[in-house]
Amino acid sequence: MTRREDIRNIAIIAHVDHGKTTLVDQLLKQSGIFRDNEVVAERAMDSNDIERERGITILAKNTAIDYKDTRINILDTPGHADFGGEVERIMKMVDGVILVVDAYEGTMPQTRFVLKKALEQNLKPLVVVNKVDKPAARPAEVVDEVLELFIELDANDDQLEFPVAYASAVNGTASDNPDSQDENMQSIYEMILEHVPAPIENRDEPLQFQVALLDYNDYVGRIGIGRVFRGTMRVGEQVSLIKIDGTVKNFRVTKIFGFFGLKRVEIDEAVAGDLIAVSGMEDINVGETITPIDHQEALPVLGIDEPTLQ
Ligand code: GDP
Repeated sequence: MTRREDIRNIAIIAHVDHGKTTLVDQLLKQSGIFRDNEVVAERAMDSNDIERERGITILAKNTAIDYKDTRINILDTPGHADFGGEVERIMKMVDGVILVVDAYEGTMPQTRFVLKKALEQNLKPLVVVNKVDKPAARPAEVVDEVLELFIELDANDDQLEFPVAYASAVNGTASDNPDSQDENMQSIYEMILEHVPAPIENRDEPLQFQVALLDYNDYVGRIGIGRVFRGTMRVGEQVSLIKIDGTVKNFRVTKIFGFFGLKRVEIDEAVAGDLIAVSGMEDINVGETITPIDHQEALPVLGIDEPTLQ
């Protein structure tokens, strides 16, 4: 099986305040991208506040970082447990997760919640023990707590062998050694490249894209965000949208957006492994599959509470 080494797709999960945002900011910054300016541009994009309140959209939450020759797509996960189904849907789009745990506080209720979801999706977590700069940090004990939690949650042997990096996101330092910090976060980028499987290369097979999240803007209308699981999607092409009830609607792909930094960038085509946003269909919903018209094969829908727009 050939894999695309030019891409990695990961989700970042943590208990609130353990440092997800700070860590992603540092990863962006050290790869030469600054969040501040770009958030403004992103906010300038019109979005529907009601949808956002209902947790159906994520905005400025998809981050793409280039490290060496690899694009790392990082999907943030909601900070609250009550976004029914969103965490599962995000985890379905990725090939690995980074679990961030505070080096002083240790594992907390939401650490358990999000880790359980990742293990259930068969993802192998990478652990970042963050805030090692805190005077009362106890990184070794926290790693033991994390291992304990993996065992309680029935992690398989592969998942139990999680790699660990120790970080101070606020200082922009990290290391794979608990007793020292490097002056950058290289060990985290390297951990991602080494331990997160690259997507399978199958761009020549029939297209399958599944909608995991929805967005909206005034220029292009409703947008489906998700992953190309198989094949290639091209702008201008006629495709089929297979609804949850099995009915089919055909439409023309008007725009495809990839992610770079915190921006969406228009692209002409997307291939298996890419995380993209697609416009052209107003009646698009979470869980639906886009396929070629002559090869309508839907992806399985997650058996979870899937919010849909009225
Ligand atoms: P999130 O809720 O997981 O996104 O957490 P944030 O990134 O917003 O961080 C929560 C708080 O922890 C903020 O006040 C950060 O400045 C602080 N913080 C994040 N990383 C570190 C760290 O490495 N060391 C210390 N001491 N504080 C940190």
